Amino acid sequence: MFCPGCAAPLPKHPPVTCQACGTSHWRNPKPCSGALVTYQGKLLLVRRAHDPWAGRWDIPGGFCEPGEHPVLTAVRELEEETGLAIDVTALAGMWMDTYGPPGDDGVEESTLNLYYFAELAGPDNPRPGPTEVSEVRWMGLDELPPGHELAFPDQEGPVLALWKAAMAAGGPPRHRMPDDPRPDRSR
Ligand SMILES: [Zn+2]
Repeated sequence: MFCPGCAAPLPKHPPVTCQACGTSHWRNPKPCSGALVTYQGKLLLVRRAHDPWAGRWDIPGGFCEPGEHPVLTAVRELEEETGLAIDVTALAGMWMDTYGPPGDDGVEESTLNLYYFAELAGPDNPRPGPTEVSEVRWMGLDELPPGHELAFPDQEGPVLALWKAAMAAGGPPRHRMPDDPRPDRSR
């Protein structure tokens, strides 16, 4: 591994400061956002069409774009992956994970994964996003996939457990989000 600034060898993978030119190189987690969409007591899940975890059940969501608030990432990704319009109602929590196997340099991509509770904001006519998703399904409490059928199981297992607990406690919560970027929602 070499410094992109001066081409001197770096003593280790970033984060590291080049001892030849003094430039700092970073490797920050990538933010991702997904939605736990509940409708008639069921949770919306998608089957992944590509690696990592191709063929596994996944909570719909994806990487945040530059400058994009995670609430809006969840809304955009749900439209792209399922064709459904959603209304985000509360922050569920954040989980750290890695995305896929290590890269050519042997280092895993670190991710910061935000999840929101959400409701359907339009008709229930799911349409799998052709490049990302092979199937969209509403699943009841007793239909959720076991860990070995889940994408990102270390992350999504606990998130599904949180959804189950919310359902047992009376249903998905609605909370005012002071950082809500949607007009008239943060007041
Ligand atoms: Zn350098």
